[in-house]
Amino acid sequence: MNKEEFNKEWEKFELECRSCSRCALRDNATNTVIYRGGRNAPLMIVGEAPGANEDQEGKPFVGRSGQLLQSLLASYGFSDEDYHICNICKCRPPQNRRPEPSEIMACKRLLAMQFKLVRPKVILLCGSTAYEGFFGQKVKMGDVRGKFIESNGYYIMTTFHPAYALRDPKHNIPIFEDRGKVRQKLEQLGCLPPLENIN
Ligand code: SF4
Repeated sequence: MNKEEFNKEWEKFELECRSCSRCALRDNATNTVIYRGGRNAPLMIVGEAPGANEDQEGKPFVGRSGQLLQSLLASYGFSDEDYHICNICKCRPPQNRRPEPSEIMACKRLLAMQFKLVRPKVILLCGSTAYEGFFGQKVKMGDVRGKFIESNGYYIMTTFHPAYALRDPKHNIPIFEDRGKVRQKLEQLGCLPPLENIN
């Protein structure tokens, strides 16, 4: 697909997201929160669902969790085009509750379309809801955090959600370490230059 065709496909995808009413989360949402970062990016970062700030701005991870995520990405030399940030669900759940399994299921089709367009090499799942939404099974974070799983040509890692580290700063260290492993994997795959070559 050339750039023009890709942009057309992307516009169709965004239109489909904005006109979606497959679940009740649409009823109270101000915006459909689709992504921020690059449209074609080697790293896809997947969170849970939009919060109040994200709903207002129409972009994922823009509140305090987003600032933490951003500083971690910057510390490992990621530019905006190197990553694509999105959520398992694109509309804000009331009172910032976790999305219900039926809502995650309803939104999965759009997420699958997004993966096909972005074509990441590495996927970073932030938090247990993102893991459960992606793999369809419950998990203890301690069992999966910080380890790569290779599946369907993707390298997938799960880490703590940045909001978790804001509540308990001791989780900053593992989150920081996990970003380092992600950077290293992308370098090994030839998707990013070695960090020491970046000024
Ligand atoms: S959360 Fe997803 S499935 Fe539900 S209305 Fe929003 S875009 Fe559609």
